[in-house]
Formats: sequence, structure tokens, C-alpha cells
Amino acid sequence: MQDTLTKKIFDVDEVRKDFPILNREVDGKPLVYLDNAATSQKPESVINAISDYYSNYNANIHRGVYSISIKASEAYENAKIKVKEFINAESEREIVFTRGTTEAVNLIAYSYGLENVNEGDEVIISEMEHHANIVPWQVLREKKKAVLKVIPVNDNGELIIDEFKKLLSDKTKIVAVCQISNTLGTINPVKEIVRLAKEKNKNIAVIVDGAQAIHHTKVDVRDIGADFYVFSSHKMYGPMGIGVLYGRAELLEAIPPYQTGGDMISTVSFKGTTYNDIPMKFEAGTPNVEGAVGLTAAISYINNTGFEAIHKQETELLEYATEQLDLIKGLRIIGTAKEKTGVISFVVEGLNALDIGIMLDTSGVAVRTGQHCTEPLMDRFGIPGTVRVSFAFYNTKEEIDIFVNALKKAIEILR
Ligand code: PMP
Repeated sequence: MQDTLTKKIFDVDEVRKDFPILNREVDGKPLVYLDNAATSQKPESVINAISDYYSNYNANIHRGVYSISIKASEAYENAKIKVKEFINAESEREIVFTRGTTEAVNLIAYSYGLENVNEGDEVIISEMEHHANIVPWQVLREKKKAVLKVIPVNDNGELIIDEFKKLLSDKTKIVAVCQISNTLGTINPVKEIVRLAKEKNKNIAVIVDGAQAIHHTKVDVRDIGADFYVFSSHKMYGPMGIGVLYGRAELLEAIPPYQTGGDMISTVSFKGTTYNDIPMKFEAGTPNVEGAVGLTAAISYINNTGFEAIHKQETELLEYATEQLDLIKGLRIIGTAKEKTGVISFVVEGLNALDIGIMLDTSGVAVRTGQHCTEPLMDRFGIPGTVRVSFAFYNTKEEIDIFVNALKKAIEILR
């Protein structure tokens, strides 16, 4: 299962040929796709892997004794090994496939949370969390009369770690934070956050939302030291509808299933049921085999491109775009953290973000506008929403020029 390094020298023009959608036009203009934080585009190898699965070995898994079912089962299990190696987990038993980050956080809140959090206990999240890492904890708070505490963000969009230290208490049961903010691009010191939580009490469960990190930086879950780490395939060049919950084996073994039904059981009788081993205990029903196959191909693609090349290209794009945007009068970037990845959110004085987004679309430029599922963060900055551009390694400086020129034109027309 070793990937071979096929692209020794990073050549963005060559890389772009791997992504069929990047060739398309929108109303006669080349598509400039700058909404990668919402979802990434897919290389041909991922599309082909999924097509090959449906063309050649589509079958339900784990139950078939016939060859295509065995092949599909192997592909599904190999995907877990691939993910395990990618994030340096100890065992593939620690890899649970979910629908995505959102389902993974819900699984932890419902399973670990309901089991371990009681009245008056505290859960700590941060002000920059995505709704997917806020609402499940609010539900837990309601159900268990728990307390939700929030790490504040400074004016640059960085977590205030001294405040986090003050929030930790004898009542803290869970800390759940993102590694990279989808709205600000801030890279959080998750290793330090884990260390501080564990210093307070080694039984505090730390959950890292890696949805925006997994494709930008090499993730080593054992080095970070979190108990749970979650992410979605679709943001890392893989298909939609599948994601990963990594959990330390010891914890996954201890907590109850989140959903029940076929495949997650060991034996069933009307007297009672015994559950399957981890990770199957958490995977009730027919899983997303197509997704697992596509995710495997996506990980190979990232491995073959290399994080060094990815990081270099994305950093250059971030710096170049930031310089260009800083020159535009009345434009304010929200999120100026020292440690930042390829995401830029901004507001333009007197203009509505949605109007800007619609105008940019007429130039073929795809950006996101609004609250980015981080409404409390918008409140923190006292703004209704932002325009957000987010880069992938297949974006180019020429695309940033097209975007900046289209933005200037939009501002002129809208003013
Ligand atoms: N957390 C973060 C930081 C995200 O960026 C996203 C997706 N925007 C999510 C969670 C939710 O991911 P999904 O919609 O794939 O479940």
C-alpha cells in the first residue's frame, strides 16, 4: 500500500490537469474556484477509483462469500489502514468511518458525552468553532445540565490561551477545538491545548476538529495527543458522504454505540444483543464503500503530491492574495493570526458580502459569503458576514489576479 512519489517537482500546470473540473468555464469565463474550505475539487484518480468500484466490484461488504463482495470488503478495510497510516494512529481499530466531521462530533457528544458528562460538569469549546462543534455540545448541555465554556478569540483571530487555562477546572470533562478555523484560517496550537488539558486532569477528553487541517498539514494524532480527531473526506480531495472519527482504542472500547442495527452487532437474540468489536461497533448498517474507495485514492494523491509542496504553494498564494487585498481601500481582513493557512475572510466598508459574491460569480470566480457556519464568531467581530476565499495547491497567482480584478470591478459597480 506504499504510494510512489510520482510528482518530484511541483508544477501547478501539470497538477491542474489532474482535476477535470478546473478546465470548465462559467458563462464563457474560466472557473476560478476559491471555495476550497467548503469543499475541494477531486482529482481524476479519485473519480476513476469510484467509477472502477461501481463498474467492477460493487457489492455489499462483510457478508458476501463471493469474490466481488470479498474485493469490496478488502477495499473498505484497506481504506482504514490507509487512514491509520495517514494520521499515524496506532491501529486501524481506532478508525471509524462516519458521514463526515459533523456526524463524528455528534457521535462523540452522544456516546462519550452522555456517558461521561453529568450535571454541573463542564465542556470547553472556542469562539471560532464551526456550528458542527458547537451545537452537539449545546444539546449535551441541555440533556445533562452541563456547563458550556468558551475560549475567547483576540482581535487577530487567535485563541487566547491564557483564558483557556483559566477556564480549565476540576469540573472540565471535555475540550473540543478546531485545529484550523474555516473562517479565519487561524492555526491553533492544538498540541499545547491537549497538554494543558491533560496537565489539569488526564481524564479530560480532548477532541480536535481537523476538518480544515487534514489536507493542509501532516497530521500525527499520536503527536498531537488528542483522544479524538475528526475530519471529512470531501475537503481533502475525496468524495462527499464519508469522514473519519479517530478515537484512542481504549476510549472507543469503553463507550456505547451511537447507532444500532446490522453490522455493529456480534450476536442478536430477543433476550439481548452483544456488540461487535471496535470500530464496527460504531458503524451500523451498510457503510459508504464508494466513499472509502475514493478516500483511499485521495490520500494517495496527497501523499504523492507531498505536504511540503502543498504547503509551499498554498503559503505563496496566501501571501500574494493578502498583499493584493491589503491595497484595496475600505477592505478589512478578518483573521490576521501569525499562524495562518490559505483562508482569507474580508469585509468591504458599506458593501454587502452576498452582493460581492454574486458579482464575482459573473466573472467566473467562486467564493463563499455569509457566516460560514460560525455565527458566534461573526458576533465576536460585530459583523453580519464576510466574503471568504480559500486556496488549494491547484490554485494559481493568475487566478488571484482574476479574482482581485473582479473584486475591484464589483466594488466600483456596487458603490
Ligand atoms: N468543522 C470545520 C472546521 C469545518 O470547516 C466544517 C465544514 N465546513 C465542519 C466542521 C463540518 O464538516 P462537514 O460538513 O463535512 O461535516
